[in-house]
Amino acid sequence: MDPALGPPERMAEKRDELTPMMAQYHDLCARYDDAIVLFQVGDFYETFCGAAERTARLLEIALTSREDSTGEYPMAGIPIDNAESYIEELLEAGYRVAVADQVEEPGETSGVVERAVTRVITPGTLTEDELLASDDNNFVAALARERTAGADDELALALLDVSTGDFLATSSTSREAIADEVSRFAPAEAVVGPAAPADVLPENCMVTPYDEGAFDREGAGEKLSTYFRNPDALLASDAEVRACGALLSYAEYVRGGAHEGERGDARDADEDAAANSGGDSRLEYLTHLTRYDPREYLLLDAVALRSLELFEPRAVHGRDEATLVGVLDETASALGGRKLRDWLRRPLLEPDRIEARLDAVEELTSAVQTRERLHDLLRSVYDLERLIGRISRERANARDLRSLRDTLAVVPDVREELADADCDRLQRLHDDLDPLTDVRKLLEDAIDSDPPIEITEGDIIAEGYDEDLDELRRTARAGKQWIDDLEESEAERTGIGSLKVDYNSVHGYYIEVTNPNLDSVPDDYQRRQTLKNSERFVTPELKEREDEIVGAEERADEREYELFCDVRRDIAAEVERVQGLAEALATLDALVSLATAAAQYDYCRPEIRERDGSRTLEIEGGRHPVVERTQESFVPNDARFASDRRLAVITGPNMSGKSTYMRQVAQIVLLAQVGSFVPASAARITPVDRIFTRVGASDDIAGGRSTFMVEMDELATILREADERSLVLLDEVGRGTSTADGMAIAQAITEHLHDEVGATTLFATHHHPLTELADELAAAFTLHFEVEQDDDEVVFHHEIAPGAATGSYGVEVATAAGVPESVVERSRELLADAGEEALESTGEGDQGPDTDSSPAPTHGAETTGTATADGGDIPADVAAELRALDLAHLTPVEALTELDRLKQLLEE
Ligand code: ADP
Ligand code: MG
Repeated sequence: MDPALGPPERMAEKRDELTPMMAQYHDLCARYDDAIVLFQVGDFYETFCGAAERTARLLEIALTSREDSTGEYPMAGIPIDNAESYIEELLEAGYRVAVADQVEEPGETSGVVERAVTRVITPGTLTEDELLASDDNNFVAALARERTAGADDELALALLDVSTGDFLATSSTSREAIADEVSRFAPAEAVVGPAAPADVLPENCMVTPYDEGAFDREGAGEKLSTYFRNPDALLASDAEVRACGALLSYAEYVRGGAHEGERGDARDADEDAAANSGGDSRLEYLTHLTRYDPREYLLLDAVALRSLELFEPRAVHGRDEATLVGVLDETASALGGRKLRDWLRRPLLEPDRIEARLDAVEELTSAVQTRERLHDLLRSVYDLERLIGRISRERANARDLRSLRDTLAVVPDVREELADADCDRLQRLHDDLDPLTDVRKLLEDAIDSDPPIEITEGDIIAEGYDEDLDELRRTARAGKQWIDDLEESEAERTGIGSLKVDYNSVHGYYIEVTNPNLDSVPDDYQRRQTLKNSERFVTPELKEREDEIVGAEERADEREYELFCDVRRDIAAEVERVQGLAEALATLDALVSLATAAAQYDYCRPEIRERDGSRTLEIEGGRHPVVERTQESFVPNDARFASDRRLAVITGPNMSGKSTYMRQVAQIVLLAQVGSFVPASAARITPVDRIFTRVGASDDIAGGRSTFMVEMDELATILREADERSLVLLDEVGRGTSTADGMAIAQAITEHLHDEVGATTLFATHHHPLTELADELAAAFTLHFEVEQDDDEVVFHHEIAPGAATGSYGVEVATAAGVPESVVERSRELLADAGEEALESTGEGDQGPDTDSSPAPTHGAETTGTATADGGDIPADVAAELRALDLAHLTPVEALTELDRLKQLLEE
């Protein structure tokens, strides 16, 4: 157990003797024993004992101690004013944080100040803007499992973004399908129900232990029905009910107890909580639960997401913008940024839905002025989703309300721009853009134009909004005016020209008279303070006025806070309308962004073909959207696939462009299904259901598992799950093993994909014999990249052409790179042998080579033994394998692995 978590042992031992405050700390630690408890003491959040030692080290803050009659306890504190950055560090170190605030004013109680956990901060349930990336969702997930007699168990995944209220659920009987959905949404945190497969979660997802009882079918159903009418009709299975219900309980738990209120504003916490309907920790802004079937969207598993560079650069040191989203994201608002990411995560399948987006993108692409004006307007759109979340959680301040007002102020202009829209999608957006005139009017009438952040100190509510408030303010102002005038009238009355009226926080208002004039001070002056050169006086009337002013101001502040809370609650009641507006603005921003990228980078509208059994994938002049942005020039290439032309074997030397070409084809398909224009001069595409990509084992041996195993595992998935509606990219698979094995496997896979699976397949390989196989398979064909050899130089044209490459050129590249001639010569010899051998092995009959027993190709009598320096013989199988080694295509690590294996063979 981490000593930073749970009740400190040395306090637990003498729980009953502890001072009331320390007992409170102890008990909160016991109740929130999976989190570091930050315990408010005045202006600081303190931690004690183990937690203090840990936070002091992690946050580089001073470790002090607190001593009382029961002992001395290590203590470390962070200032509340900039707690957020410290909390962020604790989260990064893998901790959850429970914030225990003082929930009553120190002056209000005779005993110890009451404290309560007002929120638990965890990576998946953040709502603090400072801790969240604005342009992406932050999900917490729940996984549930429902045992089903006689059938496969149902697995469900629920996802919730606590900051925006986005709430999704899905289920499947397939572990892989759930794993794919998890990688799509990349939750930061998850709670896992009984027997649910936690291993589908990625490594960087924090698994939070949580009450398994929350996953109970009945309890979960009840929890759900407190949010949604008839949740059973909304969801597809019991497993989904369990996952959603448990997730809601968890979200309420982290929201903290019934003492929610403004931090540092303990005064009205109880009142606030009571006003919060039900007085519990309900999340009022959770108004939508979207149940979806993974099969409604183009499936992209974790490998495809990564290799197609959707969100993360492929290169370790890659620049952030070197991703698909980096290229396409021209959104103006955080709302639009998140919407665009959601679209990229979940490309569509239905041609009608795709066309609807494409129509809008096309219209916005050609209407340059409208597009630019919309972009400008959308820039002043504030993050409405998180804003309404804060308003609903009663955490919004007056600046937040001002931001809402400013956003509402641009909506009519946005609507105006769409008034003449042609396409359905934009017309619908026009109609959906509810300007919320009533809310806007309320905000304009009620909220001051430039309010402070503090909501309890006045200056929030606009003049003229509330008669009582105005009256109080008038009283205060009149009093102040009287005091302002006092200096002049008193100077006149007393004849003391230098007399001053001033104010300080200790004595309030006073009249100051310098020593030489003290004789002229009238009788009604009462001495308050003697300074070196002067004395300060008050008069009964001045005190009276002062009390009046102070009283009025205090009451005005209170009245303002009251009014502010009312306004905030009135707006919270409109949560669904605000969310509807947010959705429309987000969609519009994402469409404008796609249009902007299309215009900027010269993309074309893809033609979407119905999915009526036949398939089309035709690209003219296609480009790789990310690579073309990162280098000076890019050579466009065509692609043409159809039902009877569905498997391409692509050969060509290293660096000629094979991987780039394959990925660009997949990215163009993906973009088309997102509803985006594509980097090509023309494209005709039938939507695909899934994109699989597999990249042969690279030098990544750090993962622990043999790369070959990983590769085979991934391949097995494809062969099992792909069908004729899939797009499969295989990039140099079969590299993780000896060439003979690799060749055999590659061949068997090709045949299977062609004969059984029927997927649209692009297979880049260094196994040249595969090209011959392609000639034999009816729906397979070959493509290659040629390079030109110009004296010492190898020139890459990056141009794809029909047919097979003539050679690998690896050796030539080596020459050009200055590898000694003798080595190059020897490589040529080896290569020639290897070529012959590979041909032999492909000729071995229709079954293809037996991959299980991995027979090493033999060379007949002449190879049965080769003299070595120490006089020993190299066995024939080792010699054969050595010959078969394709040096030109081995990476250094592979070469080492290979050497090691051969050495072991020799030793056997
Ligand atoms: P291969 O997979 O054949 O080894 P890559 O696809 O990795 O080759 O391409 C190597 C490099 O060549 C890329 O990083 C890119 O810089 C460049 N390249 C590839 N295709 C093109 C192209 N069509 N136009 C311009 N440069 C390209
Ligand atoms: Mg490659």
